[in-house]
Amino acid sequence: MKSDKKLIDENGKRLDGRGPDQLRNIKIEAGVLHRADGSCYLEWGGNKVIAAVYGPREAIPKHTQNPLKAIVKARYNMAAFSVDDRKRPGPDRRSQEISKVTSEALEKIVLTDQFPRAAIDVNIEVLDAEAGTRCAGLTAAGVALADAGIPMRDIPVACAAGKIGAENNDGMFSGGFVVLDLGKEEDNFGNADLPIAIAPRTNDIILLQMDGHLTFDEFEHALDLAMKGCQEISKLQKEALLRRYKSDVEVEE
Ligand code: ADP
Repeated sequence: MKSDKKLIDENGKRLDGRGPDQLRNIKIEAGVLHRADGSCYLEWGGNKVIAAVYGPREAIPKHTQNPLKAIVKARYNMAAFSVDDRKRPGPDRRSQEISKVTSEALEKIVLTDQFPRAAIDVNIEVLDAEAGTRCAGLTAAGVALADAGIPMRDIPVACAAGKIGAENNDGMFSGGFVVLDLGKEEDNFGNADLPIAIAPRTNDIILLQMDGHLTFDEFEHALDLAMKGCQEISKLQKEALLRRYKSDVEVEE
Protein backbone atom coordinates (compact mmCIF):
# COMPACT_ATOMS: atom_id res chain seq x y z
CA MET A 1 0.00 0.00 0.00
CA LYS A 2 1.36 3.46 -0.84
CA SER A 3 1.61 6.20 1.73
CA ASP A 4 3.68 9.26 2.56
CA LYS A 5 3.61 8.23 6.18
CA LYS A 6 7.07 8.36 7.72
CA LEU A 7 7.74 4.93 9.19
CA ILE A 8 11.32 5.55 10.27
CA ASP A 9 13.23 8.74 11.10
CA GLU A 10 16.73 9.90 10.16
CA ASN A 11 18.16 8.20 13.25
CA GLY A 12 16.65 4.83 12.38
CA LYS A 13 13.94 5.16 15.04
CA ARG A 14 10.64 3.52 14.12
CA LEU A 15 7.04 4.63 14.87
CA ASP A 16 6.90 2.59 18.07
CA GLY A 17 10.38 3.70 19.15
CA ARG A 18 12.17 0.49 18.15
CA GLY A 19 15.53 0.42 16.39
CA PRO A 20 15.87 -1.38 13.03
CA ASP A 21 16.97 -4.68 14.55
CA GLN A 22 14.66 -4.77 17.57
CA LEU A 23 11.81 -7.21 18.10
CA ARG A 24 8.46 -6.27 19.59
CA ASN A 25 7.94 -7.54 23.15
CA ILE A 26 7.33 -11.29 23.31
CA LYS A 27 5.84 -13.31 26.16
CA ILE A 28 5.51 -17.09 26.00
CA GLU A 29 3.73 -19.47 28.36
CA ALA A 30 3.77 -23.24 27.83
CA GLY A 31 1.09 -25.70 28.96
CA VAL A 32 -1.88 -23.34 29.35
CA LEU A 33 -4.65 -25.79 28.33
CA HIS A 34 -5.56 -28.89 30.33
CA ARG A 35 -7.27 -30.98 27.67
CA ALA A 36 -4.72 -30.62 24.90
CA ASP A 37 -1.61 -32.84 24.86
CA GLY A 38 0.50 -29.73 24.55
CA SER A 39 -0.23 -26.01 24.40
CA CYS A 40 1.22 -22.53 24.36
CA TYR A 41 -0.01 -18.98 24.79
CA LEU A 42 2.09 -16.33 23.10
CA GLU A 43 1.95 -12.54 23.00
CA TRP A 44 4.06 -10.80 20.39
CA GLY A 45 3.54 -7.04 20.27
CA GLY A 46 -0.24 -6.74 19.87
CA ASN A 47 -0.65 -10.35 18.68
CA LYS A 48 -2.20 -12.88 21.02
CA VAL A 49 -2.08 -16.49 19.90
CA ILE A 50 -2.90 -19.91 21.37
CA ALA A 51 -1.53 -23.17 19.96
CA ALA A 52 -2.92 -26.55 21.00
CA VAL A 53 -1.48 -29.92 19.97
CA TYR A 54 -3.37 -33.22 19.92
CA GLY A 55 -1.69 -36.51 19.13
CA PRO A 56 -0.03 -38.48 17.84
CA ARG A 57 -3.32 -40.36 17.38
CA GLU A 58 -4.82 -42.53 14.65
CA ALA A 59 -5.41 -40.40 11.56
CA ILE A 60 -9.08 -40.22 10.64
CA PRO A 61 -10.47 -40.61 8.00
CA LYS A 62 -8.34 -43.66 7.28
CA HIS A 63 -7.53 -42.67 3.70
CA THR A 64 -5.51 -39.75 5.07
CA GLN A 65 -3.14 -42.18 6.83
CA ASN A 66 0.40 -42.63 5.59
CA PRO A 67 1.69 -46.15 6.41
CA LEU A 68 5.25 -44.82 6.70
CA LYS A 69 4.86 -41.67 8.79
CA ALA A 70 2.59 -39.36 10.72
CA ILE A 71 0.86 -36.44 9.06
CA VAL A 72 1.11 -33.04 10.69
CA LYS A 73 -2.07 -31.03 10.27
CA ALA A 74 -1.79 -27.40 11.29
CA ARG A 75 -4.97 -25.37 11.25
CA TYR A 76 -4.53 -21.60 11.51
CA ASN A 77 -7.63 -19.63 12.43
CA MET A 78 -8.15 -15.93 13.04
CA ALA A 79 -10.97 -15.19 15.48
CA ALA A 80 -13.76 -12.91 14.22
CA PHE A 81 -12.87 -10.42 16.97
CA SER A 82 -9.11 -10.47 16.34
CA VAL A 83 -9.08 -7.53 13.90
CA ASP A 84 -10.61 -4.02 13.88
CA ASP A 85 -13.40 -4.82 11.42
CA ARG A 86 -15.01 -8.09 12.46
CA LYS A 87 -13.55 -10.87 10.33
CA ARG A 88 -15.96 -13.29 8.68
CA PRO A 89 -15.57 -16.50 10.70
CA GLY A 90 -14.29 -19.71 9.15
CA PRO A 91 -11.55 -20.61 6.72
CA ASP A 92 -10.63 -18.29 3.85
CA ARG A 93 -7.89 -18.41 1.26
CA ARG A 94 -5.40 -16.69 3.53
CA SER A 95 -5.94 -19.01 6.50
CA GLN A 96 -5.80 -22.05 4.22
CA GLU A 97 -2.49 -20.86 2.82
CA ILE A 98 -1.04 -20.23 6.29
CA SER A 99 -2.30 -23.63 7.50
CA LYS A 100 -0.63 -25.31 4.52
CA VAL A 101 2.77 -23.64 4.82
CA THR A 102 2.77 -24.13 8.60
CA SER A 103 1.95 -27.85 8.23
CA GLU A 104 4.75 -28.25 5.70
CA ALA A 105 7.23 -26.42 7.93
CA LEU A 106 6.36 -28.49 11.01
CA GLU A 107 6.45 -31.74 9.04
CA LYS A 108 10.10 -31.04 8.25
CA ILE A 109 11.00 -30.94 11.91
CA VAL A 110 8.79 -33.52 13.61
CA LEU A 111 10.19 -37.09 13.54
CA THR A 112 7.11 -38.28 11.68
CA ASP A 113 8.53 -41.72 10.77
CA GLN A 114 8.20 -42.72 14.43
CA PHE A 115 4.39 -42.64 14.16
CA PRO A 116 3.13 -44.38 11.01
CA ARG A 117 -0.59 -43.91 10.29
CA ALA A 118 -0.91 -41.22 12.95
CA ALA A 119 -2.01 -37.61 12.83
CA ILE A 120 -0.57 -34.79 14.88
CA ASP A 121 -3.05 -31.92 14.99
CA VAL A 122 -1.83 -28.42 15.66
CA ASN A 123 -4.55 -25.82 16.20
CA ILE A 124 -3.47 -22.20 16.04
CA GLU A 125 -6.01 -19.63 17.19
CA VAL A 126 -5.26 -15.96 16.68
CA LEU A 127 -7.16 -13.99 19.34
CA ASP A 128 -5.67 -10.59 18.56
CA ALA A 129 -3.95 -9.83 15.26
CA GLU A 130 -1.43 -7.07 14.71
CA ALA A 131 0.84 -8.21 11.87
CA GLY A 132 3.12 -11.21 11.93
CA THR A 133 0.53 -13.72 13.08
CA ARG A 134 1.86 -16.59 10.94
CA CYS A 135 5.24 -16.25 12.68
CA ALA A 136 3.59 -15.94 16.09
CA GLY A 137 1.43 -19.00 15.36
CA LEU A 138 4.32 -21.16 14.20
CA THR A 139 6.47 -20.10 17.15
CA ALA A 140 3.63 -20.98 19.56
CA ALA A 141 3.12 -24.29 17.73
CA GLY A 142 6.80 -25.14 18.27
CA VAL A 143 6.42 -24.72 22.04
CA ALA A 144 3.09 -26.61 22.10
CA LEU A 145 4.65 -29.54 20.18
CA ALA A 146 7.55 -29.68 22.65
CA ASP A 147 5.07 -29.42 25.54
CA ALA A 148 3.19 -32.40 24.07
CA GLY A 149 6.44 -34.38 24.07
CA ILE A 150 6.39 -34.87 20.30
CA PRO A 151 9.86 -35.97 19.13
CA MET A 152 11.41 -33.27 16.94
CA ARG A 153 14.80 -32.50 15.46
CA ASP A 154 14.60 -29.06 17.04
CA ILE A 155 12.01 -26.54 18.29
CA PRO A 156 10.85 -24.58 15.24
CA VAL A 157 10.76 -20.80 15.50
CA ALA A 158 9.63 -18.06 13.12
CA CYS A 159 10.26 -14.36 12.61
CA ALA A 160 9.97 -11.83 9.79
CA ALA A 161 12.04 -8.93 8.54
CA GLY A 162 10.91 -6.41 5.97
CA LYS A 163 11.48 -3.08 4.32
CA ILE A 164 9.89 0.21 5.26
CA GLY A 165 10.12 3.85 4.26
CA ALA A 166 11.32 5.83 1.28
CA GLU A 167 8.89 6.17 -1.54
CA ASN A 168 9.33 8.71 -4.33
CA ASN A 169 6.63 11.21 -5.26
CA ASP A 170 5.87 9.27 -8.42
CA GLY A 171 4.98 6.26 -6.33
CA MET A 172 8.11 4.28 -7.21
CA PHE A 173 9.84 2.57 -4.32
CA SER A 174 13.49 3.30 -3.79
CA GLY A 175 15.82 3.26 -0.83
CA GLY A 176 14.03 2.36 2.37
CA PHE A 177 15.23 0.54 5.44
CA VAL A 178 15.39 -3.15 6.09
CA VAL A 179 14.08 -3.75 9.61
CA LEU A 180 13.22 -6.64 11.89
CA ASP A 181 9.67 -7.72 12.78
CA LEU A 182 7.24 -5.31 11.08
CA GLY A 183 4.47 -3.85 13.25
CA LYS A 184 0.92 -3.24 12.01
CA GLU A 185 1.46 0.12 10.31
CA GLU A 186 4.81 -0.95 8.95
CA ASP A 187 3.17 -4.02 7.43
CA ASN A 188 0.30 -1.99 5.94
CA PHE A 189 2.48 0.78 4.52
CA GLY A 190 5.84 -0.99 4.17
CA ASN A 191 7.39 -2.19 0.93
CA ALA A 192 8.21 -5.82 1.69
CA ASP A 193 7.84 -8.54 4.30
CA LEU A 194 9.93 -11.71 4.56
CA PRO A 195 8.62 -14.21 7.14
CA ILE A 196 10.85 -17.23 7.75
CA ALA A 197 10.86 -20.22 10.09
CA ILE A 198 13.99 -22.15 10.97
CA ALA A 199 15.39 -25.06 12.96
CA PRO A 200 17.50 -22.87 15.25
CA ARG A 201 20.29 -25.37 16.01
CA THR A 202 21.28 -25.74 12.36
CA ASN A 203 19.70 -22.59 10.88
CA ASP A 204 17.90 -24.81 8.33
CA ILE A 205 15.07 -22.82 6.75
CA ILE A 206 11.72 -24.62 6.96
CA LEU A 207 9.52 -21.76 5.72
CA LEU A 208 10.27 -18.71 3.62
CA GLN A 209 7.69 -16.41 2.05
CA MET A 210 8.04 -12.97 0.57
CA ASP A 211 5.56 -10.22 0.03
CA GLY A 212 6.71 -7.13 -1.96
CA HIS A 213 10.04 -6.29 -3.54
CA LEU A 214 13.59 -6.44 -2.25
CA THR A 215 16.87 -6.13 -4.10
CA PHE A 216 19.25 -9.07 -3.68
CA ASP A 217 21.32 -7.19 -1.08
CA GLU A 218 18.20 -6.16 0.82
CA PHE A 219 17.00 -9.76 0.73
CA GLU A 220 20.28 -10.99 2.20
CA HIS A 221 20.15 -8.33 4.90
CA ALA A 222 16.50 -9.11 5.73
CA LEU A 223 17.23 -12.85 5.88
CA ASP A 224 20.15 -12.23 8.23
CA LEU A 225 18.00 -10.02 10.49
CA ALA A 226 15.15 -12.55 10.54
CA MET A 227 17.59 -15.38 11.39
CA LYS A 228 18.96 -13.37 14.31
CA GLY A 229 15.39 -12.61 15.42
CA CYS A 230 14.61 -16.34 15.35
CA GLN A 231 17.62 -17.10 17.54
CA GLU A 232 16.47 -14.52 20.09
CA ILE A 233 12.94 -15.93 20.15
CA SER A 234 14.25 -19.49 20.36
CA LYS A 235 15.77 -18.61 23.75
CA LEU A 236 12.37 -17.33 24.96
CA GLN A 237 10.71 -20.58 23.81
CA LYS A 238 13.21 -22.66 25.79
CA GLU A 239 12.84 -20.45 28.87
CA ALA A 240 9.04 -20.88 28.71
CA LEU A 241 9.39 -24.67 28.55
CA LEU A 242 11.89 -24.70 31.41
CA ARG A 243 9.54 -22.55 33.53
CA ARG A 244 6.69 -24.94 32.81
CA TYR A 245 8.59 -28.11 33.72
CA LYS A 246 10.42 -26.59 36.64
CA SER A 247 7.08 -25.71 38.27
CA ASP A 248 5.83 -29.29 37.63
CA VAL A 249 8.89 -30.70 39.39
CA GLU A 250 8.35 -28.30 42.30
CA VAL A 251 4.70 -29.41 42.62
CA GLU A 252 5.70 -33.08 42.64
CA GLU A 253 8.32 -32.59 45.37
P1 ADP B 1 0.68 -12.06 9.00
O1 ADP B 1 -0.33 -11.91 10.11
O2 ADP B 1 1.40 -13.35 9.08
O3 ADP B 1 1.60 -10.89 8.91
P2 ADP B 1 -0.62 -11.04 6.62
O4 ADP B 1 0.57 -10.30 6.11
O5 ADP B 1 -1.51 -11.73 5.64
O6 ADP B 1 -0.13 -12.17 7.65
O7 ADP B 1 -1.52 -10.09 7.50
C1 ADP B 1 -1.00 -8.98 8.15
C2 ADP B 1 -1.99 -8.45 9.15
O8 ADP B 1 -3.15 -7.95 8.49
C3 ADP B 1 -2.53 -9.48 10.14
O9 ADP B 1 -1.64 -9.77 11.20
C4 ADP B 1 -3.78 -8.79 10.62
O10 ADP B 1 -3.45 -7.81 11.60
C5 ADP B 1 -4.27 -8.11 9.34
N1 ADP B 1 -5.31 -8.92 8.68
C6 ADP B 1 -5.15 -10.09 8.05
N2 ADP B 1 -6.34 -10.56 7.59
C7 ADP B 1 -7.27 -9.66 7.96
C8 ADP B 1 -8.69 -9.56 7.80
N3 ADP B 1 -9.40 -10.49 7.17
N4 ADP B 1 -9.30 -8.47 8.32
C9 ADP B 1 -8.59 -7.50 8.95
N5 ADP B 1 -7.27 -7.54 9.14
C10 ADP B 1 -6.60 -8.60 8.67
